[in-house]
Amino acid sequence: MIKDIYASITRPREIAAMLSFRKNSREIKLYKESLDELASQLSDRDFCYAALNKVSRSFAVVIQQLPEQLKDAVCLFYLILRALDTLEDDMRFTDDEKLPLLRRFHELIGDETWHKEGIGDTADYRDLLKHYPKVARAYNQLGKEYKQVIKDITQRMGQGMADFATRKVNSLEDYDEYCHYVAGLVGHGLSGLFSASGFESEQLKDQLQISNSMGLFLQKTNIIRDYHEDLYLGRSFWPSEVWKQYADHFDYFANAPTNPESLACLNHLVANALNHIPDCIQYMRLLQNKQVFRFCAIPQVMAMATLAEVYNNPKVFTGVVKIRKGLAARLMLHTQNMDEVIKSFRKFLRIIENKMNSNDPHTPEMQMQLKYIYQLLDKPELSADQSRVLSSQASQDSVKKMVEQEV
Ligand code: CA
Repeated sequence: MIKDIYASITRPREIAAMLSFRKNSREIKLYKESLDELASQLSDRDFCYAALNKVSRSFAVVIQQLPEQLKDAVCLFYLILRALDTLEDDMRFTDDEKLPLLRRFHELIGDETWHKEGIGDTADYRDLLKHYPKVARAYNQLGKEYKQVIKDITQRMGQGMADFATRKVNSLEDYDEYCHYVAGLVGHGLSGLFSASGFESEQLKDQLQISNSMGLFLQKTNIIRDYHEDLYLGRSFWPSEVWKQYADHFDYFANAPTNPESLACLNHLVANALNHIPDCIQYMRLLQNKQVFRFCAIPQVMAMATLAEVYNNPKVFTGVVKIRKGLAARLMLHTQNMDEVIKSFRKFLRIIENKMNSNDPHTPEMQMQLKYIYQLLDKPELSADQSRVLSSQASQDSVKKMVEQEV
């Protein structure tokens, strides 16, 4: 905390936001004990929230924005996908065992006897799988509509993960497809849960293209930001179709972080991520419930801030680039409605504009792209009906293609 206050020392409003945020987040229980110890002490439901807190602090914070009737479903959706992801990520677990399990995990999500020991990259992940029956029991308590959405998405994600276990992200199409499986499907599932809850319209769940983009915008931001960490872990999600235009080897960028080619490659991928903004804005404009809106919008604004930070920033190649905690706290407090979201997007797009380098071959194209996004942000809010018509026109083809690939 003290370190974070120093980072914001010239920005008193960030310090105020951090303190206020700290006060408000006290209701989220933090346990010192390990999940393994907590498993015998806590009810199934409390264990699930404790697990959520341990495996994703930031998600545990935004989930507090949701209405009570939706919180458990979203919490379990997250934990079940986290369990699936834990199976996917453990590199010591052989493909012979792993792939069939990824493909049939959806059949096990409500199985109160299924569990796995010794799998997972961190103690928390291992404990989640070890005590999975607590998650399964909590899942079984959910309403039928919620369970259906969770099961369907788990099945599709498991298939996609198993397919990509033996496939690399080469083309931009692969990149979009991989991101669809690991994040776009989360967008689909959340829209499904929101519709099922009745807090959002029945039609939201059919907004596949823009729901997918909500996930892709977040996922691509993480993939860009995590270059160095992923390189260190011996994996890469940057599409080779892009990076091979700038270097022969993926680790070139880490060795030449300030070279123009390295930065041009980074900026190329940032421009690619910005393409999702129109869909994301349209999606957020469709939301009717303020709590659901904040839950969805906060991560989007954080991603936008992160993209502004990573754009043209050589530090991406040599370490972890993150937004200041104070800025994150301020953004959380000031993401209450669409006007505030637009204000934040505009602010971060300006930061990117100011960092643009005239030697970068993509700069002119990106200037056009930003001009288009600004125009879109200026547009008065579309009514839900208008948006539906627009999106069904724009999205039918690409969604149809993805659905066809899956079934
Ligand atoms: Ca993974």
